[in-house]
Amino acid sequence: MKYYSLNHNAPKVSFQEAVIQGLASDKGLYFPESITPLDPSFFDKIESLSHEHIAFEAIKQFVGDEIPADKLKEIIADTLVFDFPVVKVEDGIYSLELFHGPTMAFKDVGARFMSRCLGYFNKDKKDAKNTVLVATSGDTGGAVASGFLGVDGVDVVILYPSGKVSDIQEKQLTTLGQNIKALEVDGVFDDCQDMVKKAFLDDTLAHKNLTSANSINIARWLPQMFYFFFAYKALKSQNKPLVFSCPSGNFGNICAGIMTKKLGLPIEHFVASTNVNDTVPRFLENGKYDPKPSKATISNAMDVGNPSNFIRIQELYNNDLKAFEKDFSSYSYTDEETLEALKKIYNTDGYIAEPHGAVGYLGLKKELEKHPNAIGVFLETAHPIKFLDVVEPALGITLPIPAQIESVLDKEKVSVKIKTYEELKSFLG
Ligand SMILES: *Cc1c(COP(=O)(O)O)cnc(C)c1O
Repeated sequence: MKYYSLNHNAPKVSFQEAVIQGLASDKGLYFPESITPLDPSFFDKIESLSHEHIAFEAIKQFVGDEIPADKLKEIIADTLVFDFPVVKVEDGIYSLELFHGPTMAFKDVGARFMSRCLGYFNKDKKDAKNTVLVATSGDTGGAVASGFLGVDGVDVVILYPSGKVSDIQEKQLTTLGQNIKALEVDGVFDDCQDMVKKAFLDDTLAHKNLTSANSINIARWLPQMFYFFFAYKALKSQNKPLVFSCPSGNFGNICAGIMTKKLGLPIEHFVASTNVNDTVPRFLENGKYDPKPSKATISNAMDVGNPSNFIRIQELYNNDLKAFEKDFSSYSYTDEETLEALKKIYNTDGYIAEPHGAVGYLGLKKELEKHPNAIGVFLETAHPIKFLDVVEPALGITLPIPAQIESVLDKEKVSVKIKTYEELKSFLG
């Protein structure tokens, strides 16, 4: 499979090159040259297939022959080491729980898949190691650290703002050791992000083979398709149209969902639910794409002012806004509305959500008014414990600490403090 740059000013590349480069040389996102729908018989018997089998069918055309089928199956088996329950919350409303992985965030799947692809591509290289460089405001870093731990041929350097991530998040970043290094930046998230961007443009660091591990990377983005197939498998027997609501920040997850529709998965409608960082909902209202600097909210993994993957969604619809609006809506919610929803879901349904899931729930409820016969699924993208400082006071409860989290809490934090880009550069060497 070949990938082209959405800026149309860089050569086409293979899956392998796209994964290793992350972004094209013209700074465009990579996009697959073709998307071939799966055979209808696959959907007819999907309930009898294993998650691993479904994932293999979903992704194999995007990998092509660059990873042999047996090896790709191994990578998938090693990625899907936890469950994806579809939990009934209310009549006609389900939560697709994506937080049962090692760091209890949905980014675990993409991070595990990408790391194993990179490991495979590096298997015969002795000295051309890749360095994955990421800036994190909290959640991404932990999933990347855990996903890449011990993967041969890949070093991981994570930058996080000192004192600005939760204790749990900091432990997830700083206690693993081996090929994972944490840099504690004296500054805010934007400072970390700026340093990472500068490093990618710095020719004197070319020998480090830097790559990113956020959803611009196709190997982090594409495996997120699996979730939608798994939810369909679980709900198919109800024989009703399906509406999915994704709490959206960089719009990678929802874009992967729309890809599954192009592959033939019968999904009636998608909702991108956002916090007050509402660039896409405003675009759908007035047709103007007008990104703004991000605002801090209680659903902070979605504090994105200019969602990178939106351009991929537009490409999926050939920039035809009418066709797009038929399949897709986007609504935005304030922190007050999010807290009200959290309480409502707990008090009337007995379900403990967290702020991102609650935003997804709100968008789903609104869209379902237009689809009276449908059942709705919102994606619950993190375990409530990851946002305990919001969830516990809002609901007046104390959450038990899950084993995955407990196991890092008493490990020793190891980080290197830096303040300037020069310090990052000398660290990378
Ligand atoms: C990253 C993240 C999101 C947003 O996902 P996108 O693919 O960037 O839209 C939502 N919730 C949580 C908890 C996240 O970590």
